[in-house]
Amino acid sequence: MPSIAHSRSPSGPSASSPTPFHVAIIGGGITGINLALGLERRGIPYTVYERSPGFREIGAGIGFSPNAEQAMKLLNPEVFPAYKRTANPNGEDKFQWINGLADELLYSLPVPEDGFLGCKRSEILEEWGKLVPPQNMQFNKMVEAVQEPGDQGYDPEAGGKILLRFTDGTHVSVDLVIGCDGIRSRLRNHIQSHLDPFSIQRVAKESYTHKYCYRTLVPMSRAVEAVGQHRASTRFMYNGPGAHIITYPVGNNSVLNMLAVISDPNEWPDEKRHVLPGTKEDIRQAFKGWHPTAQKLAELFPEEKEGGGGPIVKWGIFDTFDFPLPQYYSGRVAVAGDAAHATGPHLGAGGGLGIEDALVLAELLEKATKLQVWNGPELDTGKILEQALDVYNHLRTQAVVSWTRKAVDLFQWKDEEVAKDGKKFGKLVTEKFHYVWYDLDLQEMVNIARDMLEIGVVEKPMEDMGITGDWETVMEALMRVNLSDTGHTPGTSTWTVSVSYQ
Ligand SMILES: Cc1cc2nc3c(=O)[nH]c(=O)nc-3n(C[C@H](O)[C@H](O)[C@H](O)COP(=O)(O)OP(=O)(O)OC[C@H]3O[C@@H](n4cnc5c(N)ncnc54)[C@H](O)[C@@H]3O)c2cc1C
Repeated sequence: MPSIAHSRSPSGPSASSPTPFHVAIIGGGITGINLALGLERRGIPYTVYERSPGFREIGAGIGFSPNAEQAMKLLNPEVFPAYKRTANPNGEDKFQWINGLADELLYSLPVPEDGFLGCKRSEILEEWGKLVPPQNMQFNKMVEAVQEPGDQGYDPEAGGKILLRFTDGTHVSVDLVIGCDGIRSRLRNHIQSHLDPFSIQRVAKESYTHKYCYRTLVPMSRAVEAVGQHRASTRFMYNGPGAHIITYPVGNNSVLNMLAVISDPNEWPDEKRHVLPGTKEDIRQAFKGWHPTAQKLAELFPEEKEGGGGPIVKWGIFDTFDFPLPQYYSGRVAVAGDAAHATGPHLGAGGGLGIEDALVLAELLEKATKLQVWNGPELDTGKILEQALDVYNHLRTQAVVSWTRKAVDLFQWKDEEVAKDGKKFGKLVTEKFHYVWYDLDLQEMVNIARDMLEIGVVEKPMEDMGITGDWETVMEALMRVNLSDTGHTPGTSTWTVSVSYQ
């Protein structure tokens, strides 16, 4: 088993300081904005290119796991307080599951004090967005194509940099590109085509999970009238065959966030559009025969979109489980957040994963800057950046995507006997939430990431850094642990298990 000691920093900068590299972040959603704030904190030059005219989060509420909170704190000291400013206090520090047919409490999972708070998506993104200096943010900039040296149409005048071409006819050249462009990522396609240019079968893409959902925010007075004060004051999930509803208050208890998820045996009718017209009758039918409480919740969904303008919409739930990218980067182009590993919403983890990605990338790029300064011009900046993306790639995984699929089967009674038995249900739910929410020591992970980059770039003798085992052995061990889905004990850090610091 390899073991790693904290790396020693070289004693000072070299005489000639190399040119700093510039990072292009594509997409100003949760992942892109957090990456921007991580780079901002570390003094790394960057620009965010967002296709919309402003910060725009669609959907209703969102909650962040303890891992995500830890990532926010490590990313930039302003990120976590901004989240707290918009977050709704928990009525109770618990996540509670109700048998939706009987309206009986099935299981209650404690969350940390003030942990997993809900907030309105629009509010949190706006609050984080205020922290990004306006000169680093370019709106109305939709990336149409990415070109690297050697690609058809690459302009040699770009001098070996990566060319980003926008739909408005303009272009820029940058040193590194991080695609945070969401589930239908253009950057993912670019990476796929560079990894495996001749394959037409193994194209990485999102696919339909055979679940769709309806989302809404209900004025608190109506919610309390329907289900009572207690049920509206904190987080609950109502489970049953083929469907579930999750509810939690947001907006300083002014509204109840509601998400109804429905199983669907059919194919999604239009892969190009993840959001399609729905009906309230569809929601009624999904909860027909359930306890009156669940039916009252179903009745709280509107007939029409907020402010009129047509029928309510249903959102297809897609993920990258079936067709994942073989790796998250090629050359100096990488993907993060949903672009890399889109997951269903059932464990409340996708946004948090994007923030973790942002942290790992920001730390690696900071280390890359230091290595560049310490070692001077004899180190090729392009190679350092590629190595940084290689380390990032080894540390990130699709594991949460598969755990999320298992979780929704549990919530929607795939195995009815287990789902109705509080003890069995509780054991499985605890295991899943612990794995996804708690079992990652992010500080330790970024320490390892920084060390691995230094070993790879400087080709330092491993013994100098107190490491036993060669680069490949250590990386393989990291990868095995990260991708491993088995033999996991809730409450233990997957990192300390396999890689120990001396
Ligand atoms: C119903 C539901 C509930 C959820 N609940 C939770 C939860 O409670 N907790 C949690 O952690 N996660 C949750 N998630 C998951 C979470 O919403 C996503 O993982 C997260 O929003 C992904 O953020 P992102 O920044 O990676 O992508 P996105 O939010 O999709 O952002 C991508 C951005 O890129 C821009 N863009 C796209 N293409 C281009 C282009 N070519 N050029 C320029 N810009 C471009 C888009 O306009 C957008 O702003 C939920 C998801 C759903 C569907």
